[in-house]
Amino acid sequence: MSVITVEPGNEQITVNTVYCLGRNYAGHAREMGAEVSAEPVVFIKPATAVVNGTSPIVLPSFSDDVHYEIELVVLVDDVPKNVSAENAGQHIVAYGVGLDLTARDIQSVAKQRGLPWATAKGFDGAAPVSRFIKSENGLINSTTTLRLTINNQVRQKESIGNMIVSVPAIIAYLTKYFSLRRGDLIFTGTPEGVGQLRPGDSVKVELVDIVSFNTRVEKL
Ligand code: MG
Repeated sequence: MSVITVEPGNEQITVNTVYCLGRNYAGHAREMGAEVSAEPVVFIKPATAVVNGTSPIVLPSFSDDVHYEIELVVLVDDVPKNVSAENAGQHIVAYGVGLDLTARDIQSVAKQRGLPWATAKGFDGAAPVSRFIKSENGLINSTTTLRLTINNQVRQKESIGNMIVSVPAIIAYLTKYFSLRRGDLIFTGTPEGVGQLRPGDSVKVELVDIVSFNTRVEKL
């Protein structure tokens, strides 16, 4: 069972479903050779993928090319079906930052064959997250910056205001298809600059001035 911590108050919440957006920043869609579509790209990770970000990242034996993707992560409460973007914000509980770890070699083969990405994106530990910080009325400043630093070099840095589909619009879109419940997380997509993690890397994952974590990379 994966549990996250919400501050202030050190509240422990069990994770339910983990929804993820793909291609939600134009720069990352370009670097992946993917089209930017008006319709969001949605996939799901099992709750068992979520781990405390400060634990070491253990690279799995089945992949030779695990990539980091820093993402703003949203914790929601129960959300009514077909909520409007205007009303979605009030159902946001807290914000955190996480990594959408991706076995890029497995994902590439799946994409070529037109198959799902589940094993490439949903393996145990594929979603390290920070603590979550409660938000007043679901608001977060659009100039808030994601910054991923590896071995003291900044690899990804972008304002969350550059998302193609905003957080309230993501929630509205998801509720057309899914019943969002308390404890669901939404990974909102990564900006450009993704790349491979290597054993020994020291990794800093920041939602600048809000929350961050440090970890390091090990091989199984
Ligand atoms: Mg991603």
